[in-house]
Amino acid sequence: MDKVSPEQRSRTMARVRGKNTRPEVFLRSLLHKRGFRYRLHVASLPGVPDIVLPKYRTVVFVNGCFWHRHPGCKRASTPTTNVEYWTKKFVNNIARDTKNKLLLEKMGWKVLTVWECELKFPMQLANDLASMIRG
Ligand SMILES: [Zn+2]
Repeated sequence: MDKVSPEQRSRTMARVRGKNTRPEVFLRSLLHKRGFRYRLHVASLPGVPDIVLPKYRTVVFVNGCFWHRHPGCKRASTPTTNVEYWTKKFVNNIARDTKNKLLLEKMGWKVLTVWECELKFPMQLANDLASMIRG
């Protein structure tokens, strides 16, 4: 028996993917306070960027360290079982991220990446992001 409702499952999936988590929502509110206006999870753009700032022609991906392989991050460990499966999955994820970034850049978008582990320091992150968006 499946005791998990579809709503619960989609909430769980959203958390797994790191979307609309409390730290991410907080980061967005900090950007908003700094005067940035944005759209969220824009499906018409390659890779469905998490934060889209049309005025600055900038998109921000908030990436989970594990799935998107944050270089040098301890959260980006490789499981010790099914190594082949995971390696293939990670290679595909990175390839997809790279392709989406190139497509967006071709369309004239500036592409910024925020890592899940950086959300631990939202003030610092919002400051860095603000100068990168304006820069
Ligand atoms: Zn990380």
